[in-house]
Order: sequence, then structure tokens, then C-alpha cells
Amino acid sequence: MLKYRTGLKDMPSYDVVERDWQIKVNANECNMNLPPMVEDRLMGRLSRVAFNRYPNEEYDALREQIADNHKLQKENVLLGSGSSEIIEKLFYCFGGTKAKKIVYPEPSFSMYRIYAKAAQATGIPVALEEDFSLDIEKFVNTVNEEKAALAVICNPNNPTGTGYSVSDIEYIADNIHGNCALLIDEAYIEFYGRTAVGLLSSHPNLIVARTFSKAYGLASARVGYMLASTAIVTMIEKAYMPYHMNVLSLATADIVYQMRHEYVPRIQMMIAERKRMSAELGKLPGVTVYPSETNFVLIRYAKAAKLNEYLESKGIGVRCFGDAPGLKNCLRISMGLREENDQWLDAIRQFVEGRA
Ligand code: PMP
Repeated sequence: MLKYRTGLKDMPSYDVVERDWQIKVNANECNMNLPPMVEDRLMGRLSRVAFNRYPNEEYDALREQIADNHKLQKENVLLGSGSSEIIEKLFYCFGGTKAKKIVYPEPSFSMYRIYAKAAQATGIPVALEEDFSLDIEKFVNTVNEEKAALAVICNPNNPTGTGYSVSDIEYIADNIHGNCALLIDEAYIEFYGRTAVGLLSSHPNLIVARTFSKAYGLASARVGYMLASTAIVTMIEKAYMPYHMNVLSLATADIVYQMRHEYVPRIQMMIAERKRMSAELGKLPGVTVYPSETNFVLIRYAKAAKLNEYLESKGIGVRCFGDAPGLKNCLRISMGLREENDQWLDAIRQFVEGRA
């Protein structure tokens, strides 16, 4: 018998059905590849990469650029292979024993529960209300009663789409005990705008995590970052192996970040599509649509599993949550291109109107 790490056998996996979808709207990705101008710049840049060297220079260049944009120092920025790696490292660094509590709302990003287990910490979910709003008093009280080491809020929240106000985040940051770090996972912030970054200077325990995977369409490059005090960054950095980012991803993210104005029209388009699809879905009998501030929309429908099967049979991949807490009969659909959205909407319409 192999002697795996304690708890590994019982760890749940990230359960996403992947196949060769005709329309892929199951992972909140951007359904457009690089804008042509970005691609041109990137090709030039890649031809100048020093493949024989460890990528210090590229790591620092991206860090500095991100820091400048947020009026911070590069020592306030830590990069990761997707924000996944950042979040996983934060759980690892604030976890380590069952006595370490990590508090997060539920339903929220399903990996929080898994990272808590992987970090051998105790994950403490705080149930969202029926409409997925967050009872901030309940959240703060749980963090304080449990003497949590880390509290996490995903804003706007995946998979519900709910946006929380900066004043709510500030209230939480002000009222949780002083030995608790507060992570705001802003994976979808470009679709919402109400960031917690402005609270960093007055809240030394605050951490903001961002990703290039969603609005910037770089899911394959695996680049994310966190912003925090130099003290936190210095500690979390210890958990990384040396040169943990590869030069191709760093150079790509560097160009994309320099040219981020190119992404404004497509972000606006995704927001417009989310509004259009939310309105259309809301007209369908028996379908509840939750307000979203992201590039996806969550719906509840009594025959969600059957609807999901029907969509699958048509080559349409959406995210079905099965029996996940708080998400019974829920499907999450990310915004594709306009034509793709028309197609999946048409398929859903056929099903709920009994024409499938
Ligand atoms: N946080 C949230 C809320 C997410 O939805 C995701 C991706 N599904 C991530 C973090 C991780 O994204 P990535 O690792 O691609 O940066």
C-alpha cells in the first residue's frame, strides 16, 4: 500500500465534464482568442525570449507593471499559475492543521472547500441567503467565533454572479478580528468594477486575488496575481518553488496587460450579452434567473438535470451543479459569442416550452 498524504484519498476532485463541445459555455472562459493586435505584439516578443535563462526579468517586469497600475510597489504583488495557485498557496499558508479555520460563503467557488481540505485546515462554510446575498453580520460573527485564520469572499461571486458592495467588504475587513487574513477573490472584477484594491492601504490583513483567465481570455497561459502588504507577500512567497512561472506565460500576460485597453470593447460586449441573455432567460416559464455582475448567469429550473442532458446531446456544455449545497437544480452558463448565445438560448427555450 502506498503511503499517501493523510486525507488525500478522501479529497474530492474538481468535477467538470469536458468533451469536444460544439458550444462551450461551462467554465466562464472568454470565447475569443487574442485580439489580432495583441497577437502581433506577442509574436514579436516571444522571438526575443531568452529560453536559456530563468525568467527573473519577465517576472519582475509583469509585477512592476501590475504594481504601477494599482499605485503599489512590486513587493505588493505576487504572481501565480492562475489565481488557482495563489488561492491554494494562501490556504496552505494559513492552514496546516485542523485547528486553523478558513471561512468562506457557500455557495461560492467550489475549490475553496477542496483547498481547505488539501491544506489540512478546517473549512467553515457560511450559507448565503436564498437570494445569494451575504449576511455580513453572520459572516463576521462566524469568523470571530471560530477565530479563523483566513476568511474568503469571492466578489462578484462564482457561481451565483452576485456582487457585494465595497462598503460591505470594508465592514467585514473592519470587524473581523485582527489575526485573520481576508482574501477577496476578484476573478470576475473586470465585469463589475467595484474592487477592494482601494482598501489595501488601510487594511494590512487584506489580500486581493485577480486572474488573466476570464476578462483577458488567457485561461491557457495560467496567470493570476495577488495584491497585499509586503509582509504578507514575503510570507506567502516562501511557499513557492523558485521560478514558479514560465517565461511564455509571463511574456504573454505582460503584453496583454500593456494592451488591456484593447479588451474594453469585448468586456462591454460580454456584459451586454449577459444582460441580454438574463432578460431572455427570465421570459421562460419555470426558469429563475439570478442577477449577475459577471460574464456568466446562474439559473434554477426544476428539471435542470434533464435540461443539462438535452443540452449535452446538442453538443452544448454548461455547468450543472447536481446536489451541491444551495445549488440544487442550478445551471451556470457563461457568455459566448452572440451567435453561440442565441443557439444555447434556443435549445433551452425548446426544452422548457416542451418542443425538445
Ligand atoms: N476564483 C474564481 C472565483 C474562479 O471562478 C476561478 C476559475 N474558475 C479561479 C479563481 C481560478 O482561475 P485561474 O486559476 O484560471 O486564474
